[in-house]
Amino acid sequence: MIRFGVRLIAALGLSVGIALGIALAPGAFADAARPTVVIDPGHGGADVGARGASGALEKDLTLAVAKKVAALLKEQGIAVVLTRKTDVFVALGERTEIANRARAEMFVSIHANSAPEKTVSGIETYFLSLEASDDEAMRVAMTENEVFKQAGTADEAGDVVGAILGDLIRTEHLRESSALAAAIQRRLAHLSAESRGVKQAPFVVLTGVNMPAALVEIGFITNASESKRMRQRDRQAEIAKALAAAIGEAMVQNREARLATDAPNDAPDAKEKP
Ligand SMILES: [Zn+2]
Repeated sequence: MIRFGVRLIAALGLSVGIALGIALAPGAFADAARPTVVIDPGHGGADVGARGASGALEKDLTLAVAKKVAALLKEQGIAVVLTRKTDVFVALGERTEIANRARAEMFVSIHANSAPEKTVSGIETYFLSLEASDDEAMRVAMTENEVFKQAGTADEAGDVVGAILGDLIRTEHLRESSALAAAIQRRLAHLSAESRGVKQAPFVVLTGVNMPAALVEIGFITNASESKRMRQRDRQAEIAKALAAAIGEAMVQNREARLATDAPNDAPDAKEKP
């Protein structure tokens, strides 16, 4: 559980104390300290993403959930930028650029999972690493990176590792990305019989993002019952609510950690300063 001091709340410019229940209080962030979060609905347009047995398309599920997350975050006083609001194609690099231009505090990419084995189900959350946690995590990353390979020129095609290596020097957000992924997985784990945990893998869309970033796989579209559930509005709302709460939670947690880290470099009484 995260502790909240009066100092912290004042320092963050929060207009009211935040109770980490299901969601932050409406308007929890004062205008002056209004953070921006980028929500990235995976795929879109000709890039349909994974396909469910019942005809469900990943690009539709991710957009539906992303819009709901955006609405909930806005209620909490958080500014939201969506990398797409409609069924259009947006290249992976463009998504990263949108996030960096927005100078966002966090980037969350929403996806639905797929597996050759139709019985596999559950939720998992990723943050960036060149080395995948395991073969399965690598397979998921390679599936999500597929559109990058298709969009590349002949020279670039397939050079996913090269693209990631070029940006992987940025490791300063690793700890906060890990905290973000952990908060997302913890909140969403309650919604599924199977929590597949927090993993790391080389996702192109997470590279080059100048902020803490995570990618969540909200369920397996290749699992008939999970796919059917994800198409239901109440399920999408449940997932969105958990995601919005996790984002708010991680934001406060990361800000608190940053203040604690910065304090020793300031004056001895820096902890008392706003
Ligand atoms: Zn995807």
